[in-house]
Amino acid sequence: MTTGAKRSRRVAVIGAGAAGLVAARELRSEGHVVTVLEQSGGVGGVWRFDARTEADALGLDEHRPHKARVHSSMYKHLRTNLPREIMSYSDFPFDSAVLGPRYSGDRRRFCSHQEVLGYLEAFADFYQLKPLVRYHTRVLAVEPVAAAEPASAAGSSGATTGSEADANKKEEEEEEVVWSVTSERLASNGRASTSSAGGSADGDIGRDSGSLAQEREMYDAVVVCNGHYAEPRLPDPDQVRGLLPPGHFPGQQLHSHNYREPAQWAGKTVLVVGASNSGEDVSRELSAGGAARVLLAARSWKNEAWGADAAPYGPANNIYRYPMVSELHADGSVTFEGGRREGPIDAIIWCTGYKYSFPFLRGAAADVAAVSDNCVGSPLWLHMMPPGPLAPGLSFIGLPWKIVPFPQMELQSKLIARLLSGRVPLPAENAMRADVAAHLQAMREQGLPTRYMHMQGMDQFAYNDMLAAMCGPDVPPLPAWREVLYRATSALKRSRPEDYRDGDIAEAGGPEAARAVQESEA
Ligand code: FAD
Repeated sequence: MTTGAKRSRRVAVIGAGAAGLVAARELRSEGHVVTVLEQSGGVGGVWRFDARTEADALGLDEHRPHKARVHSSMYKHLRTNLPREIMSYSDFPFDSAVLGPRYSGDRRRFCSHQEVLGYLEAFADFYQLKPLVRYHTRVLAVEPVAAAEPASAAGSSGATTGSEADANKKEEEEEEVVWSVTSERLASNGRASTSSAGGSADGDIGRDSGSLAQEREMYDAVVVCNGHYAEPRLPDPDQVRGLLPPGHFPGQQLHSHNYREPAQWAGKTVLVVGASNSGEDVSRELSAGGAARVLLAARSWKNEAWGADAAPYGPANNIYRYPMVSELHADGSVTFEGGRREGPIDAIIWCTGYKYSFPFLRGAAADVAAVSDNCVGSPLWLHMMPPGPLAPGLSFIGLPWKIVPFPQMELQSKLIARLLSGRVPLPAENAMRADVAAHLQAMREQGLPTRYMHMQGMDQFAYNDMLAAMCGPDVPPLPAWREVLYRATSALKRSRPEDYRDGDIAEAGGPEAARAVQESEA
């Protein structure tokens, strides 16, 4: 349901990745005043390949300082695991004609990370989003405060016209919650700059500084788009004995967050743990890159024909599948579930996923979005906002996984923009809680544990349709060809796991997929 009423809000978007960019576009087109706070020097988020890796190679210290962190988890030769047609936002096709000068020269359907960054850059250029982004600005704290607290520190006030400021002031008086956002200005080397370093090209940073160039501003809403592929997740140490302390096992250990290319493991025996996209890719890269042997361990195989004793495979025919690892030993060997022991192992690369992390949330915001067992909140309504008084002022984009992210982020952004403007009314708190309860009940009925709370898989399509319907009649559902190509890609991965990226989707998905390819080009 939509209403005629519309109000403009001052909105802080945290992060200028795929989520933050489309959020900025949708919020601005709904009439909001948008500031995107981005810690790096450019847009694109995780697609900005960074050759550096972290010294804490397993990411054991969640509180490691910012300067010890690297955001991107991309590896050097990564190609997308989805066809570019379906990765695109709904109205900005992912083809070289659209990319113009941002085209990387890679026409492949499953393209390189450089091409995806080019796409996001082209999107930001075309919609003139970059002027909304404040680069080298890291958000340190986000907290709801009573509206009565004076917003004199509001950096955003400088971005509004006099009449906007008047309108916003009136709205602030009506609202119960405003958002305090504290950020620090980073030098281009990623370190926090001191106030003695002065302001910046942006002019207004640092005026509210203490010893560091920190600034506190007030916003009407905060949209969190900080990504969830930067904080490594390891198995529970109870499930893998000897995992901690890391020095117990003498071989090298790292998380896939810190894997870039295979060269250093040539001639070595490497255990790769986890067989999702990263585990499958990394094991094949190691095999092609000259590793002596690659052991690929996983809790469950998608294809039961691949048992632990199945023949080796891979570019050098030296990848061996194993069950999940259960113990690391001080002599450099490892034991797998079922009792088989192998060694010595030179290195272990943990491709075991990532944690949601919102280190900047404070007070009630931290409470409603606490992360436990891979679940944000208890959980968030529609994976986006906490039911209760902090909605719609606090929202999250891009939490679901096993999905096609960009177009879903676009629909989430459209809905958040409309909830903030009042064009779409926010449901009553008890209705939001009932939705959450229904989601939990559906998970229980399917026997899914909490850690799959934000996992969607094929459910993403019904979710996307629901978001579009909630937005109103001017937001059509995503066209059916996207789902057809997603299914065809899954079929291709199953039939040609080793080289699906160079396979033919139309062949794998049959005539329906062939039609979908044509429709995607129309
Ligand atoms: P990010 O891209 O991570 O952007 C978050 C931004 O927030 C970053 O720019 C970061 O610097 C900024 N930020 C974080 N914290 C702060 C802070 N405190 N203050 C200020 N700024 C902050 N998706 C696909 O569609 N196809 C694929 O083939 C594919 N392959 C992938 C392969 C790998 C190895 C990984 C890790 C992911 C892959 N993805 C893929 C998923 C990818 O993460 C999403 O496509 C999408 O890019 C996520 O966008 P985001 O904006 O949510 O997060």
